[in-house]
Amino acid sequence: MTLDHPTPYYLYDTGLLQRTLAAIRAEVADHDNYHVHYAIKANANPRILREIAAAGLGADCVSGGEIEAALNSGFAAATIAFAGVGKADWEIRRALEAGIGMFNVESIEELEAINDCATSLKLRARVSLRINPNVGAHTHDHIATGRAEDKFGIDMEDMVPVIRSIQAMPAVEFTGLHFHIGSQLLVMDDFAALCRRINELQEQLDREGIFAPNINVGGGLGIDYDTPDAHPVPNFAAYFSTFKQGLRLRPGQHLHFELGRSVVAQMGTLVARVLYVKHGKQKQFVILDAGFTDLIRPAFYGAHHAIENLTAAEEQRTQTETYDVVGPICESSDVFQKDVLLRETRRGDLIAIRSAGAYGEAMASTYNCRPLPAAYFASSSC
Ligand SMILES: *Cc1c(COP(=O)(O)O)cnc(C)c1O
Repeated sequence: MTLDHPTPYYLYDTGLLQRTLAAIRAEVADHDNYHVHYAIKANANPRILREIAAAGLGADCVSGGEIEAALNSGFAAATIAFAGVGKADWEIRRALEAGIGMFNVESIEELEAINDCATSLKLRARVSLRINPNVGAHTHDHIATGRAEDKFGIDMEDMVPVIRSIQAMPAVEFTGLHFHIGSQLLVMDDFAALCRRINELQEQLDREGIFAPNINVGGGLGIDYDTPDAHPVPNFAAYFSTFKQGLRLRPGQHLHFELGRSVVAQMGTLVARVLYVKHGKQKQFVILDAGFTDLIRPAFYGAHHAIENLTAAEEQRTQTETYDVVGPICESSDVFQKDVLLRETRRGDLIAIRSAGAYGEAMASTYNCRPLPAAYFASSSC
């Protein structure tokens, strides 16, 4: 499934996106009080946003621009949750005017700013508190967010005092608790630990006579980067059942999820062309026309993506070689993967970098005055 377009480009499989959305819907269909928000930062391509909005998911936004993108793509304002440690005044104002569902607030300083802004607009802000649950997530250091040393959220000890100060703020309404422990989590134990921590915090709230109408457990479900064809749709059953079994919700409580990567990662492939195969003294390099400006995850997080030579597969070349697959950008970190076993590769071959639908196009840049990668859509069936 490739196209005769100038490279590099993202190719999105809308059939797989639909199957993924159907799998999510199947898990929450019997639970009226479950709400799944799509984390727009994973991929904000307008067509993808429209398909996800049409499937009935809400939106999780981390900037004013994302709120705009969500509204323009058909997400109802009431389904928007607005997170982030550093919300600017104009973003808070925009969110209030749009009538978003809730702010996920990360500090007392931010609460005061929201209260001031809502007061001057004569509106009421619905706020949930992002609590740092101090649950260590088994993932890359750069994408763990729920440990005591991370910059996100409010310390657990401060939860009750901060709720008390919300209750004293005229333009702010307490709507619940929010958590997000990290990304690319494949060990359900991390989510089970989060459930236990939430249960403890809820007992504390009970003792204080505080009701949290909404519990938001964030996102973070990982995907199979090594063998994407074996697991094109993530294991949503295991993920949701961890919360169904582990969380003790109070009557009338709503449970929110904010999935990003697991919704869109497997539907995307970065397609690039081989500019040169360079034979160095110790190594052979496959030099692509795509670089970290198109997909930064390998350079940024040391992330691994499966790489395939599409042309060689089509031509049934059987010999394999070991290559370092690199980009053209003038930085030594511009490496997609070292020591990759590929079918014998030649100049002009098309290369697929798989599982690139999340944090790929959304993180593209124009460094080196490179154009942003294009995006095309095709649909596979099962
Ligand atoms: C990034 C983020 C998400 C989505 O994370 P994924 O790992 O892509 O599922 C959800 N909630 C918040 C607050 C985030 O910052």
